[in-house]
Amino acid sequence: MSNSIFEAATAQLDKALKHYQIDAEAALRLRTPKSALQVSVPVRMDDGSLRVFQGYRVRYNDLLGPTKGGIRFHPGVTIDEVTSLAFWMTFKCAVVGIPYGGGKGGVTVNPKELSLLEIERLSRGYMSAIADFIGPSRDIPAPDVYTNSMIMGWMVDEYSNIKREFVPSIITGKPIALGGSQGREDATGRGGFYVLEAAKERLGLGSKPLTIAVQGFGNVGYFFAYLAAKAGHKVVAVSDSKGAIYSKEGLDPESCRRVKQEQKELKAAYCTGSVCEIVEHDKLTNEELLELEVDVLVPAALENVINKDNADKIKAKVIVELANGPTTPEADEILAKKGIPVVPDILANAGGVTVSYFEWVQNRNGYYWRESKVHERLKEIMDRATLEVLDLRDQYETDLRTCAYISALKRIDQAVQAKGTLRYFAARR
Ligand code: NAD
Repeated sequence: MSNSIFEAATAQLDKALKHYQIDAEAALRLRTPKSALQVSVPVRMDDGSLRVFQGYRVRYNDLLGPTKGGIRFHPGVTIDEVTSLAFWMTFKCAVVGIPYGGGKGGVTVNPKELSLLEIERLSRGYMSAIADFIGPSRDIPAPDVYTNSMIMGWMVDEYSNIKREFVPSIITGKPIALGGSQGREDATGRGGFYVLEAAKERLGLGSKPLTIAVQGFGNVGYFFAYLAAKAGHKVVAVSDSKGAIYSKEGLDPESCRRVKQEQKELKAAYCTGSVCEIVEHDKLTNEELLELEVDVLVPAALENVINKDNADKIKAKVIVELANGPTTPEADEILAKKGIPVVPDILANAGGVTVSYFEWVQNRNGYYWRESKVHERLKEIMDRATLEVLDLRDQYETDLRTCAYISALKRIDQAVQAKGTLRYFAARR
């Protein structure tokens, strides 16, 4: 088995194609990226020295519309990873039925080693390097791991400087003041929460409060944990890159986050008055968190964390993938044998791109929606997509990931048919 993330990603497509045949030409076009760009980004560091960072942008497939996908700043970024993430975006947008293809970008960098000004120079430099490759009707970036709304703000400013006009629809996840949407910040975690709520009874979890463990306490993991706890579920463990905390009684995600921000360390806390009180908790490793006996395990950090080495030890009843690609194909097989359903990333974390789509629509219309309208429309889309995938599971009697791919393939196939295929031309010759 190769270590390529892309090969693992396309193996998921192969599996779906066995259940649901699409036009051979459409299948062929889904096997390779449409275009990929590699750039060198020189950055003047604060001490006067120059460093050159490698950046990438991949437009995987635009059959359903302009390509869409985030920008990742991480030391592990490679063209293989960016291509795989762009591949997943293609299917993610199709699963939720928004008019986008899939794209992704990234820079190989450890942003924790850079000052804020160095990150700004890197962000502007990267945007300048990819500016001719992207466009509001061609390819629209957004935030991903270790990038945020502030970085999107610098990037929209840089792009607008290059084009000599303000172009808010070039990028989503922007600060509200620069054309961002209400409800974008928590959209991925919120979308995942809506998916869990819509699916839990049909996945055998019943309607009672659930115990939940969340790996990764960043943007996505935090908001999911916050909403789940607010809805009455018990978030018993959360983690970041340094390790995990566990409390049988359940954690208060909001207080944990406040303490993490203040003390730079994840601790279980409850706020009494305005002061957060540290409460008793156990420290676990990230590996131990994955193996906890909980109702729902939520990987919300990086790829391949559930793999052939630990899949057998997973005791959760259901996995909800908020990270992209957290489960390897070997692990998928092991989990299927154990009867643990995996709600796949391309469905569970599609809330982010859905609200990004709302942001782009608002930018193009110049008319902005209330937060409640964003939540209502997001819920409508996530509920519908979840029920479609669950219905396909009943129909095809296969795993949820394959069903999500089938749902996406149906939409992609329709677009290919509408543009004309060999069969279409042969019939008219
Ligand atoms: P983030 O940078 O805000 O948070 C990442 C979190 O993961 C941090 O808390 C970090 O400490 C933690 N982490 C890093 N390495 C870890 C490790 N080895 N073990 C445990 N935790 C670790 O990123 P994010 O935006 O929350 O993205 C998280 C995941 O969700 C990624 O896979 C991303 O591709 C995916 N995703 C994000 C969005 C979005 O809108 N931000 C949308 C869809 C998917």
